[in-house]
Amino acid sequence: MQVKSKSEKQLDNEQATIDRYDDEAYPKGWRFIGWSMNGIRQYKRYECLACEAAQDITPASMRTYQPKCLNCRNNVYKDEAAKATPALALLGPAQEFGHDGNYRQYRCLSCDHTQDLQLGAVRANKFQCQQCKLAPNVNNNEDTHTLDVNNNEDSKPNENAWLED
Ligand SMILES: [Zn+2]
Ligand SMILES: [Zn+2]
Repeated sequence: MQVKSKSEKQLDNEQATIDRYDDEAYPKGWRFIGWSMNGIRQYKRYECLACEAAQDITPASMRTYQPKCLNCRNNVYKDEAAKATPALALLGPAQEFGHDGNYRQYRCLSCDHTQDLQLGAVRANKFQCQQCKLAPNVNNNEDTHTLDVNNNEDSKPNENAWLED
């Protein structure tokens, strides 16, 4: 029947499309796993080959760019936080500065204080735990040089100063 042959043809087309999505994704470190979860028609669902996290990406950006895996990026941020002085745990999205994508919420492992800090400041180790600053002897090792790094700090952190090296 004509209807059946048409649907077979559609299936063939769909398989060809899936193969093409996969071929485009592999060199970029992704594999195509299905249709998007975000309800936006242009997006498809891909799995990161490095960490196996799934993410919605448009085939167009997969073809044109090198889409970044948010989970891999988050793992880098966690590493950077753990290597900072004092060491920090990355908790998640910023609370106070949630509107600014450069901020995340961290817990200071030295004093357990929770605060929003800039990603770039944590990476450059140019941040100050507000709690450790108030009670410097909480963190009384030789690394207290962090106290004078931000001596011009005010209550509203400059949004860009810490991002630059
Ligand atoms: Zn990943
Ligand atoms: Zn602290």
